[in-house]
Amino acid sequence: IGRRSMGDAFRALVLDQKDKKVTVEFRNLTTDDLPDGDVLVRVKWSTLNYKDGMILNGLGRLVRTYPHVPGVDFSGEVVSSSDARYKPGDEVVLTGWRVGEAHWGGYGQMARVKADWLVPLPEGLDAAQAMSIGTAGFTSMLAVMALEEQGISPKQDGEVLVTGAAGGVGSVAVSILSALGYRVAASTGRAETHAYLRELGATTIIDRNELTDTSKPLLAERWIGAIDSVGSTTLAHVLSEMKYHGVVAACGLAGGADLPGTVIPFLLRGVRLIGIDSVMCPYATRIRAWERLAKELPIGQLNAATTKVSLRDVVPWGEKILEGQIKGRLLIDVQDC
Ligand code: NDP
Repeated sequence: IGRRSMGDAFRALVLDQKDKKVTVEFRNLTTDDLPDGDVLVRVKWSTLNYKDGMILNGLGRLVRTYPHVPGVDFSGEVVSSSDARYKPGDEVVLTGWRVGEAHWGGYGQMARVKADWLVPLPEGLDAAQAMSIGTAGFTSMLAVMALEEQGISPKQDGEVLVTGAAGGVGSVAVSILSALGYRVAASTGRAETHAYLRELGATTIIDRNELTDTSKPLLAERWIGAIDSVGSTTLAHVLSEMKYHGVVAACGLAGGADLPGTVIPFLLRGVRLIGIDSVMCPYATRIRAWERLAKELPIGQLNAATTKVSLRDVVPWGEKILEGQIKGRLLIDVQDC
């Protein structure tokens, strides 16, 4: 950064390190400053995910090299490409592949990435809608697909539980499951989000405090499936409440990375625990998940779950997401900074 260069100028939020502390500032960069890659993209939209909150606050050692442009997802328009799959003007979406962690990401108005990491903007979505979904929503669809692959269906008698329901992954999960005809129980710690969760399609609201008891390996059977973005005691408790052959899709660790439970739910109820990884997800699965999001996620609900902010204002939101204070998805207007 800062070397003499002839590339196109743009603005970016740049993280750096001073006295082992992470600093955050906006800088004027040029495309010559960007890392290597096949495709140069004018970034229009990015989002704030839990991981972005960690990165903005220098947590989790997710970023090893500074200076760094964060932003784990983005949508935008191809400016130039050395890969035949993309030409100038094509609209593209990126989530995962450790972009925004090991590679500069979406909090800059330009990004250069590998063609393999991109997917074409899914038919039926515009670039802003694709990022209202973003990494969190994409992960929710992967979780729903995992439940289906394990045989869970809306025809079964019972509810699917979504934990951390008012957050990004949780909100989109409630919305998709409800649109697919499941009966959805949404667990939240925030009473003020109950009406919002019902609007997204939750049929039952559970106080998150009800999901903390880990003293017994098995509790009364409650859920045919679960999508969990909380982890720790919540996940351990949910495992003990699964119906016979119930399936849990574990997406996140907003409540902690530990898992203080027993193997009893697996042995005595045949419970299945499936890990969801949106980062290294294969291309065919990505395309399938995006196609389904474009067709099956109700756009009105997506709008209700989306708050739009400018990149200029993103930093304080990064602290809020770590405190569990964000409702739904935070869409970032990257050209506005
Ligand atoms: P959000 O902060 O938007 O949502 C997390 C929600 O979890 C909060 O809104 C809150 O919901 C609940 N929560 C937060 N802290 C606690 C706590 N201490 N105890 C219990 N519940 C809590 O984050 P995202 O939805 O973006 O991400 C959720 C998790 O999923 C993160 O750990 C993230 O890293 C992970 N993730 C994983 C991906 C993957 O590929 N596996 C991809 C994307 C995200 P409420 O207020 O309703 O209780």
